[in-house]
Order: sequence, then C-alpha cells, then structure tokens
Amino acid sequence: MQPFAFITVTGEQAARQAAAYPDARYLAGGTTLIDLMKLNVERPSTVVDINAVPLAAISELPDGTVRVGAMVRNSDMAHHPLVRDRYPLISQAILAGASGQIRNMATTAGNLLQRTRCYYFRDTTMRCNKREPGTGCAAIDGYNRIHAVLGTSEHCIATHPSDLCVALAAVDATVRVVGSKGARAVPFGEFHVLPDERPERETALEPGELIVAVDLPPLPFARRSVYVKVRDRASYAFALASAAVALDLSGGVIRQARVALGGIATRPWRAHEAELLLEGREASVEMYRQAADAALAAAIPRRHNAFKIELARRTLVRALSRAEALS
Ligand SMILES: Cc1cc2nc3c(=O)[nH]c(=O)nc-3n(C[C@H](O)[C@H](O)[C@H](O)COP(=O)(O)OP(=O)(O)OC[C@H]3O[C@@H](n4cnc5c(N)ncnc54)[C@H](O)[C@@H]3O)c2cc1C
Ligand code: SF4
Repeated sequence: MQPFAFITVTGEQAARQAAAYPDARYLAGGTTLIDLMKLNVERPSTVVDINAVPLAAISELPDGTVRVGAMVRNSDMAHHPLVRDRYPLISQAILAGASGQIRNMATTAGNLLQRTRCYYFRDTTMRCNKREPGTGCAAIDGYNRIHAVLGTSEHCIATHPSDLCVALAAVDATVRVVGSKGARAVPFGEFHVLPDERPERETALEPGELIVAVDLPPLPFARRSVYVKVRDRASYAFALASAAVALDLSGGVIRQARVALGGIATRPWRAHEAELLLEGREASVEMYRQAADAALAAAIPRRHNAFKIELARRTLVRALSRAEALS
C-alpha cells in the first residue's frame, strides 16, 4: 500500500476543501476503498474520513420524497420503515448483497461508487483500460464469465456490481452532490456513464464532489415491487443476473411498469423498452417473456458469458411474475 495523508473532517465544506488535494478520496465505510488500496489498485495521496460529517439521516420531505443521507449505512436503509414499506425492491436489493457485517459498514454513497469486480481490474499485473487507460482490456479475449452483455465497448466489458443501484435506477432516484461550483442534483439515469472510449470515467461526478444524499421520489405503485437476484451461491456473492421491477396493476392490466437489470451491464440498466412493451397490456407470463426479449435484444455475448442472456431473461420473467402475485 502506498503511503497517504489521512484527514478527518466534521463538515461538508471541510470535506470538499480536503478533497481538493490531487488524487484525494473520501472514506465512508471503507469496504471498497481499503480493499483496493491494499491491492494497489487505488493509490490516493490523501484519504478524507467523512464518517463524522452529519449525513446519516433518512427523512421525508413535504412532497413525499424520501431523502437518504450519503452516510446512511446500507443495513439502516434496508430496515428503515419509509424505505421498507414504500420501496420493497430497494430493501430487498440491499439485503441480497454482501453480508450483514459489510452492510453495517457500507454507506449509500459508497455503494453507488463501488468499483467493478472484474478480476483483471483488481490484479495490477494485468492489462486494464479502466485501471490504466490505454493498456488494453484483458477480459475481452480472456475469461469473461462474470462480464457484461449490455452497455459494453471495445475498451471495457466490466459489469457494474451494485444491487442497490439497480433498484435506484428503477425508481428514478436523484443523487444530490456538492462541489466547488455549488450544489446540484443528478438524475440516477445520468449518474453512471457507459465505458465507451473512457472506461476509467464511471460517473458524472466532478473531482472532489461530495455526494450528500439520494432522493427517492414518491412512487405509490412501488409498494408492489420486487428484487430478484441470481448468483453462484445463495449469499455473499455478486449477481450473475438480477431484476428490480415495480408494477402498477388495475384489473389485470399493467398501467405502468418499472424495470431495471443488474449483473449483466456496465452500469445499472434501466430497461425502458421492456416498460413500453408492458404498459397498457394484460399481465401474463407471455407478456413478461416478450418484455424480457426486448430488454435483452441488444445484448452482445462474449466467449464465456452467453449464458447470462437467457439467465437475465428468466430472472426478469420471475421478477415480473412475483410482482404480479403480490396483493
Ligand atoms: C466481500 C464483499 C462482498 C460484497 N458483495 C456485494 C453484493 O453482493 N452486492 C453489492 O451491491 N455490493 C457488494 N459489496 C460491495 C459493497 O456494497 C460496497 O463495498 C459498499 O457499498 C461500499 O460502501 P462504503 O461506504 O464502504 O464505501 P467506501 O469504500 O468508503 O468508498 C467507496 C468509494 O466511494 C467514495 N465515496 C464514499 N462516500 C462518498 C461521498 N459521500 N461522496 C463522494 N464519494 C464518496 C470513496 O472515495 C470511494 O471511492 C461487497 C463488498 C465486499 C467487500
Ligand atoms: S473489462 Fe474493463 S475493468 Fe475488466 S480488464 Fe477490461 S477494461 Fe479492465
């Protein structure tokens, strides 16, 4: 591990000032950052501990938005009544991830900014455009069983690993950030960016910007929602495929649908094509299959990950069927 300066701050402004050092990183739960520093994948000059910054509250705004502070621990978010009752897909997504101990440390903002689990990214002896731009991608012609089939480029095919982010994409969350130019709100669909030619750039955050909260908009039909995750083991494993869905049903007809997929794409994947196909149609397994085909139509398989396309289709059909069955 490379030596680094360690700064503890208690306020947002002090955090942003400290983060102005080149290559500075905020430290929240540390469950991603410290691992990657030990592997020499992350080599910050300065680590800014933001654990004492008061950003750990969950509150309801007058318009019904639920505001989740950046430092709220994943366990607290999953079990909070406002989240658990209004957005079951979010609670289920968090509880499907990692382990109890990790969820007790991991924070809302840290979860959004966790890095890919691509083996080559985490091994500094391998070629990786994301870790060292311009060196190539060892995964494209290498072992790519866990890699993405949607949103890939010729420069990177790494999967976005978060479960929570899939559910946040489905509900159209907003990420609130502050930086040297002031405060701004980033729609969740614009927060994570596609790899294209610059896989090292993963989000719309500017250097030094601090995430302060994630807003969950009012979405009454999200009470009928589920998160389904398929993985190699029943717990403590990342998704091979996952689906976060919410259905607005009336007399057996789908009025609105929200569909997002995980484990198969380079960013949390909102499947608008599937939503359009479902809306206004009678709920049925046949419709869900058609929606799943539409969601996966643009998938590009590689040597070892073609199985993910059918797996994701079935995961989505299962998620939609489960959501329909809820009362
Ligand atoms: C063994 C293991 C298994 C896991 N399994 C899963 C899983 O199945 N599903 C899943 O979704 N996740 C899983 N995770 C990932 C876990 O959810 C993340 O490590 C965690 O959410 C990161 O949060 P953190 O607070 O610890 O982030 P940190 O490690 O503290 O920070 C991560 C990044 O976010 C930045 N950051 C943190 N807070 C802010 C802020 N407020 N503003 C700007 N930047 C900030 C940091 O600088 C750093 O770059 C697993 C992790 C481990 C170690
Ligand atoms: S898939 Fe992306 S993260 Fe993995 S080796 Fe290729 S460039 Fe690096």
